Amino acid sequence: MKTECLIVGGGPAGLLAATYLGRFRRSVILIDAGDSRALRIPTSHNVLAFPDGISGPQLLERMRIQCDEYGAKRYRGTVTRLSRADGGFVADTDLGMIATNKVLLATGGLDVEPEVPALRLAVKEGAVRYCPICDAFEASGKRIGLISYGKCRVKEALLLHRYASQLTVLSAGQEMHLTETEAALLRSIGAQIVSEPVAQFYRTDFGVSAVTKSGDEHRFEILYCALGTRFRSNLAAGLGVPVDEDGAILPRDHLRTNVPGLFVAGDIVHGLSQVAVASAHAAIASTAINAELLEDEHGLS
Ligand SMILES: Cc1cc2nc3c(=O)[nH]c(=O)nc-3n(C[C@H](O)[C@H](O)[C@H](O)COP(=O)(O)OP(=O)(O)OC[C@H]3O[C@@H](n4cnc5c(N)ncnc54)[C@H](O)[C@@H]3O)c2cc1C
Repeated sequence: MKTECLIVGGGPAGLLAATYLGRFRRSVILIDAGDSRALRIPTSHNVLAFPDGISGPQLLERMRIQCDEYGAKRYRGTVTRLSRADGGFVADTDLGMIATNKVLLATGGLDVEPEVPALRLAVKEGAVRYCPICDAFEASGKRIGLISYGKCRVKEALLLHRYASQLTVLSAGQEMHLTETEAALLRSIGAQIVSEPVAQFYRTDFGVSAVTKSGDEHRFEILYCALGTRFRSNLAAGLGVPVDEDGAILPRDHLRTNVPGLFVAGDIVHGLSQVAVASAHAAIASTAINAELLEDEHGLS
């Protein structure tokens, strides 16, 4: 297969970029492995123009319908390797090889998950959450736990404190390590600090219960997890694109990378992981991709 632009990833970033590029009358192939983070959104209340909220699956379905209006070819599949060829790229995919002038990587990232039984259901019900920026407002007045590995995300705790009736910070797998200043700050906002590592989680009628190694039980209506993110940047890294210590990409202007013709958008980019940000990236990157294609066609590059 051959195309002007290959988009890897069919979450909000990839789908909106495909819509823009289709509207620029570009040939577009979008390959998506089908596990967008947005699929886990029970109801979002911060997506533009949905005052009553919208679920992630509904949002993606609407975006796919809009994208299909403009001719992008969408396939379910995985891109396993990208290499440079003839001024463009060749992608190895489970659908065969694809030759393309430009590539947009919108492969996102995945949250490191806690070992809570029936986790998917707990996320769907809003008992386990990952992103206070997304949904802490809907957690107002609740008993909230914030779990991380060893170090407490103090700024996340300060944010959650504005909503929680009671906030507890916990650590998974290892003792909580706090500086004196951090501990004093957390105490000053009335947060409870559980230093002993959590050994096990249970689902309960009211939410999630965390039990420490010595058997102390702490009950929450909502557990926020700050255990980290696994960014899916292996295709970019394979081409020599720099990533930060977590694997997120640090792009150049207009979401370009150091590899000519390779762009990035959405959660894979270092920064704020949000639908609004992924959408903005998609608009900027796809417009720059079209501009580069125009320059290439007219010998302006
Ligand atoms: C529980 C939860 C609630 C959230 N709530 C909100 C909210 O209320 N508001 C908000 O703004 N944001 C929210 N988010 C964050 C939001 O879902 C993400 O910011 C958004 O989905 C990022 O879009 P993206 O397109 O960059 O990545 P994704 O949506 O993750 O899509 C990436 C896609 O790329 C595909 N892919 C990866 N590698 C390959 C490959 N090699 N080949 C082919 N395909 C590949 C994946 O399968 C996936 O489908 C929430 C996230 C979670 C988990």
